[in-house]
Amino acid sequence: MDKALLELRDVSKRFVKPLDTAARIAKAFGAKREAEVVHAVDHANLSIQSGEVVGLVGESGCGKSTLGRMAVGLHTLSSGTRCWQSEDMAQLSGSELRRRQLAMQMIFQDPYASLNPRMRIQDIVGEAPLAHGMTTRVEQKDYVASLLQKVGLDPALVRRFPHQFSGGQRARIGIARALAVQPELLVCDEAVAALDVSIQAQVLNLFIELRNELKLTYLFISHDLGVVRHISDRVVIMYLGRIVESSPTAELFAQANHPYTSALLASAPKLEVKKIDFVAVKGEIPSPLHPPSGCHFHPRCPHAMPRCSVEQPVLKEIAPQHYSACHLNDVV
Ligand code: SF4
Repeated sequence: MDKALLELRDVSKRFVKPLDTAARIAKAFGAKREAEVVHAVDHANLSIQSGEVVGLVGESGCGKSTLGRMAVGLHTLSSGTRCWQSEDMAQLSGSELRRRQLAMQMIFQDPYASLNPRMRIQDIVGEAPLAHGMTTRVEQKDYVASLLQKVGLDPALVRRFPHQFSGGQRARIGIARALAVQPELLVCDEAVAALDVSIQAQVLNLFIELRNELKLTYLFISHDLGVVRHISDRVVIMYLGRIVESSPTAELFAQANHPYTSALLASAPKLEVKKIDFVAVKGEIPSPLHPPSGCHFHPRCPHAMPRCSVEQPVLKEIAPQHYSACHLNDVV
């Protein structure tokens, strides 16, 4: 297999949830109170080939956005390694690090919140390429106009402010801003979730066109299986900070292996409304604050066995390019 463009090796991210005032006072009077640790991402491995579109799916709170932010360097790693074309990013510094960082950009869910309302589109989109010497002050307007054209916006609108655009247009501005520094990898975090269904389809088609035209690679994060199915070559499923299955898209939808993936596919139309109630939960509900020992899916798994409560299953290749983390695959 070719060298991966981006590879996350055994990465984890833990956040410490500080004590609130009441807990601090209780602690001062001798009560046993400790800051809680949230295990947002737990020993995850993710490899993205050049030109590939990888869909990252899971319920809200499963750690997929955190993993996306770790991928582009917006979150530091608590442990593990982040490699760009097999080079450990932690070993790089100065211009080498900046060059690789520019090659990966993030597109956020809420285009309005991520655009400075006091800046004109020309400055929002043109600021980074100007700072990094990709254009000059004189050429900035034309540079931005060509980017707007690329994402399907009228270049004559460069002097407008974000509030003068619709939601779909703002999403396109967010894409133009990411493209402005000529990236190779885009991490799109719920990039179409805030849009109407008809606009979603237009923006998804734009992503596909841009991929073909600019040879882009995507990590497409979404809770919406329909969106991911439409755009991805490969789908990665996350549950409670762990990757439980990874497979080519068609195979995953035809032959899901992991019990969680099966439950996710069966519940797809209800995903946006509430958390999925798979089966009667046995014992305490696991969470990133209280990850269970053994398989994280164990308290909800209809196929759980004694081994699952004590031993964490690892991702194993069960068919070409299809990986699943479940002890059921060890049973013959
Ligand atoms: Fe269920 Fe065990 Fe497989 Fe986890 S490892 S999904 S608990 S059968």
